[in-house]
Amino acid sequence: MKRRNVIKSLTMLPFVGSIVAKAESTTHTSTVTPPAAKRDFFKELGVTPVINAGVTMTFLSGSLMMPEVLEAINSTAHDFANMFELQDKIGAKIAEMLHVEAAMVTSGAACAILLGTAACITGTNAEKIKMLPNLPGPRPEVIMQKSHRYLFDQAVTTTGAKIIEVEGVSEMTQAINKNTVMALFFNAALKSSITHQEFLQVAKAHNIPTFLDAAADVPPVENLFKYQKMGFDMVTFSGGKMIRGPQSAGLLFGRKDLITAARLNHSPHEAPIGRPMKVNKEEMFGMYAALKSYIERDHKKEWEDWLQRAKRIGSKLETLQTVKTETVVDPGPANSFPSLFVTWDQSKIKTKPKDVLVALKEGTPSIVANAKGDNTLVVGVVLLRPDQVDVVAGRVHSILQKALTV
Ligand SMILES: *Cc1c(COP(=O)(O)O)cnc(C)c1O
Repeated sequence: MKRRNVIKSLTMLPFVGSIVAKAESTTHTSTVTPPAAKRDFFKELGVTPVINAGVTMTFLSGSLMMPEVLEAINSTAHDFANMFELQDKIGAKIAEMLHVEAAMVTSGAACAILLGTAACITGTNAEKIKMLPNLPGPRPEVIMQKSHRYLFDQAVTTTGAKIIEVEGVSEMTQAINKNTVMALFFNAALKSSITHQEFLQVAKAHNIPTFLDAAADVPPVENLFKYQKMGFDMVTFSGGKMIRGPQSAGLLFGRKDLITAARLNHSPHEAPIGRPMKVNKEEMFGMYAALKSYIERDHKKEWEDWLQRAKRIGSKLETLQTVKTETVVDPGPANSFPSLFVTWDQSKIKTKPKDVLVALKEGTPSIVANAKGDNTLVVGVVLLRPDQVDVVAGRVHSILQKALTV
């Protein structure tokens, strides 16, 4: 058998433990198999339930909420609460948990980017808050590295701000003028011409607030603390990715004056730009419960559990002629967790990863996985329910087996 090409940008992880197919450990981090519901809403509406053997994807409803989150949502649904007080108390608690001055729950990281930008434009000025995005005068400017431009920066321009692209420290310095309101750093950008430290240095020298988008950048859990310590004034993470809170929730945290201003631009205030991005009471409690659960979790055990899943699926698939598997950890900072890379000799098993993806998706149950290039099927393990690990292994095995020509 020819040695497989090593995918350079990816870290190889040695397998741990034995080949023994270990029963799925019941860490509290695994979503428990749901009890058979009395009323099946999927069926009632004809919606296909999907197994996510990929990563957190918004089109696929993000992640599955932790049991603690569902408990928070259900148990708080029976009383009213004053939303100002709730945001005060939850914000204070989250700020304490993340070692920052202030925090708030937003409707996702995209909302946090919008509110953070709005905060930098308006401060606490009620007139400006009312007028956004139609302030008179020149448009406020937000600085970004050219290589950091991405789909989500529309959340910046929604406030009426325009993005000024820079490359390198000297361009960044020159770009700063009296209209500059903020500098945005996309943490998972593939290329940077300005490092985190340089970015902070230039911005701070000119008193420009800095915002870091780290939406998908846990695990590791340490990232939740890293960037405020580095000196970013505002940081966002999605609630509905690996933190496994409500999909439509997120975190914005950092400097107190900016979070105060961001809150003034958000619901429950009645008119501001953030009003259409309301977060309901239950999701606020849910976001808090998710963050607490995420921070307090046994991350080492969870990681071991993921490796075991990959190993279990891999052992099953390698019983097929020419199939090779490898557990690979994406270097991140986004989606930095183990997945199983599966390859085979396509002259023996006559199917391509992209065809396997179609078969997985169209079969029952429907399974969404990924591919890398033409030759590698990528099976994600971190979002599987414990009972789905063998289902995924079995389905991939049977699809490959069918294509096997002896
Ligand atoms: C997912 C993501 C967002 C959007 O986050 P939501 O919580 O879905 O609003 C923004 N930025 C980056 C880098 C992301 O990965």
